Amino acid sequence: MCTCGKPYFARYDLAQAARTLTHQNLLTRPKNLWRYAEVLPGCAPLTLGEGMTPLVPAERLGAAMGLKRLYVKDEALNPTGSFKARGMSVAVAQAKHLGAKTLAAPTAGNAGGALAAYAAAAGLGAVIVMPADTPAANVMECRAFGAKVIELNGLISDCGRYVAERKDHEGWYDISTLKEPYRVEGKKTMGYELWEQFDGELPEVILYPTGGGVGLIGMCKAFDEMQEMGWIGAERPRMVVVQAAGCAPIVKAWEQKQDTAEPIQHAATIASGLRVPGPLGDFLMLRMLRQTRGTAVSVTDEEMLHAGRDLAAAEGIFAAPEGAATIAAGRKIAASGWIRREEAVVLFNTGSGYKYSEAWQRALKD
Ligand SMILES: *Cc1c(COP(=O)(O)O)cnc(C)c1O
Repeated sequence: MCTCGKPYFARYDLAQAARTLTHQNLLTRPKNLWRYAEVLPGCAPLTLGEGMTPLVPAERLGAAMGLKRLYVKDEALNPTGSFKARGMSVAVAQAKHLGAKTLAAPTAGNAGGALAAYAAAAGLGAVIVMPADTPAANVMECRAFGAKVIELNGLISDCGRYVAERKDHEGWYDISTLKEPYRVEGKKTMGYELWEQFDGELPEVILYPTGGGVGLIGMCKAFDEMQEMGWIGAERPRMVVVQAAGCAPIVKAWEQKQDTAEPIQHAATIASGLRVPGPLGDFLMLRMLRQTRGTAVSVTDEEMLHAGRDLAAAEGIFAAPEGAATIAAGRKIAASGWIRREEAVVLFNTGSGYKYSEAWQRALKD
């Protein structure tokens, strides 16, 4: 983190990058996110096969929502079953390059699993601090990957404080959301992939289940870089922040036309990845929503659970509740006319349903 307390970002010589990062050259590159090497840090790649996830046309679900071009970017197919793999692949590789020995992070769930996996692959230690009510699969995978797991009675913000207070004394490298710049670099590759998968174009609308906002901030950074490299013009997909009604700081700030968000008290939702009561990048997300003419929508846990069943039954995708939330939100803004029928719309399924037995047991109760 910058000494001013705000996040900082990696910058590249994009004129130089554009000479070799071309559509033609990409054709023969490995099918993981390190294919975008020119716009990633120069460390040795650390890969478990993350990235290049499928963009699945969701015709049946789209028809039911009155949308002709609806797609699901299925991030559940990443190593450790969530898109947290992207951020950790790059951040752990760079941490190793910088000489870190033990990496520490607070997590609401999937970030811990991804950190533990990439730390294992890199031969580094990991300390993971999570709320005691994190889904069981996340605790298990961290332990299996050999990480030290600390469970606290509290929220991710309390876990973050725990890491911050001990890291200097313990010699931990803090790999928390937006406290180092490279998780954003990993997650921005979702934006590059969309451009490749839409044959050199971008969709009109992107719905993104937002906790800390790393993916949203990352994709907007990718679009700016792509414009500077001459890949796209000034137009942008309209970004839609999707949050859980029980923890929607960005939606609340957006509706009240604020530039920053107030932390939510007593945050609660079954979508553990969205349980981030006071995101550090609040002002960045709100700025990006304004710049892209986007919007912010909240959905209840019940709506997510129903939407998850609809997605699974209509399209064969078993989603995390966070991913399912984008369907519920998409329905609302399609019904209100905010999305037009012929626009290309991408929903991000950020994680696998297989890691959420507790949530799915509730979804299937009736
Ligand atoms: C972490 C997480 C999110 C939120 O991601 P951010 O980029 O931090 O906003 C959404 N869905 C799942 C499944 C997650 O694990």
